[in-house]
Amino acid sequence: MIEYQREFVDKCCSGLCRSCQKQGLMPVLDLGPMPLSDGLVSKTQLDHVDRKYPLELAYCPNCSLVQILETVPPEMLFCDDYPYYSSFSDALLSHSRENAMNLIDRRGLNGESLVIELASNDGYLLKNFVEKGIPVLGIDPAQGPAKEAEAIGVPTMCTFFTRDLARKLRSQGNRADVIIANNVLAHVADTNGFVQGIKLLLKDDGVAVIEVPYVRDLVDHCEFDTIYHEHLCYFSVTALDRLFRRHDLYLNDIEKLSIHGGSLRLYLEHRESPKSSVRSMLEEEAREQIDQYPYYENFHQSVQTIRSQMRQMLSGLKASGKTIAAYGAAAKGTIMLNYIGADSELINFVVDRNIHKQGKYLPGVRIPIFEPERLMRDKPDYVVILPWNFKDEILSQQTSYRMTGGKFIIPIPSPAIV
Ligand SMILES: [Zn+2]
Repeated sequence: MIEYQREFVDKCCSGLCRSCQKQGLMPVLDLGPMPLSDGLVSKTQLDHVDRKYPLELAYCPNCSLVQILETVPPEMLFCDDYPYYSSFSDALLSHSRENAMNLIDRRGLNGESLVIELASNDGYLLKNFVEKGIPVLGIDPAQGPAKEAEAIGVPTMCTFFTRDLARKLRSQGNRADVIIANNVLAHVADTNGFVQGIKLLLKDDGVAVIEVPYVRDLVDHCEFDTIYHEHLCYFSVTALDRLFRRHDLYLNDIEKLSIHGGSLRLYLEHRESPKSSVRSMLEEEAREQIDQYPYYENFHQSVQTIRSQMRQMLSGLKASGKTIAAYGAAAKGTIMLNYIGADSELINFVVDRNIHKQGKYLPGVRIPIFEPERLMRDKPDYVVILPWNFKDEILSQQTSYRMTGGKFIIPIPSPAIV
């Protein structure tokens, strides 16, 4: 039995579950104060102190939802400078295109249909429907990505999706054949309101297709760096089933996906008619006791082990005169490097293909971000892959660096050199 800090335990006990609203959460992991993972620091902000917020994970014994305790106001996370543009990842683009084509086919979508995407970002997914002449509406609060979506012909409302917005759209005659929400359900503070909004906006025979990271992959592969302030919830199928059922939406099909380190694609409808995929995953979760607290109890220990192994590996390399850089200024990277305490003394720089990130610094650890070509120019001996979920894509893009003897370090599920 792990000894948690009294303060953390008390905070869990008094906190309300984001889904079932019951009190009495149980402690899982305390990562300590962390900066906002996407809050990249510009040159003019270098003399400011990066604000840090507690990052604590807890489990609800009533509905089995794993969640963080702190809610940072969404305006601070997703607006103005939000640097995440989906179109910078080739893997995500092809994953999205395939998803769109399947939906068009499966649901027989045409010029009379309406596809709405919540958190549509830069139109990376909806553009596939637009190409086929299917009407779409994107909803996303981040101005930069929303503007780029409009520029490529994807109509986009630049705002947060809420129950009230759903009600307004419905009263204007908009109801969707398909509602897509990829990697956003875990981000919203009003979890129940978001699901109610989907219920309101979905046609009677419509389908909502939702992708969320799977809590089982988080725990089994020790993906602790996917825990950050934007990610409020970490779902199991059991927790999702209980959440949707509360709002008369039914989980009728599930696919397991390998993207983002392990995700679920859920198909929801107004009427219950579950395929065997749903029944078998619920049974599997009951068998593995994913709906029981002890399943989460050793996670804390495994995370600390990765921290000490990474520290040991990096400081050992540094002590023997090796130079180290990192690849991918993703949110994961902020958490990984801040948690293991690797600053610019240890890691000289990070490279990233996203031009909006280049020239800035990772928050907390203040490591500068450059363009990927820098790897060939400076030839560091080792490069830590921070977005390890895209490691295959990154390794194949970096063949020439590897040919010159450069090595990569992959931190998760346990630190390895390739
Ligand atoms: Zn709950």
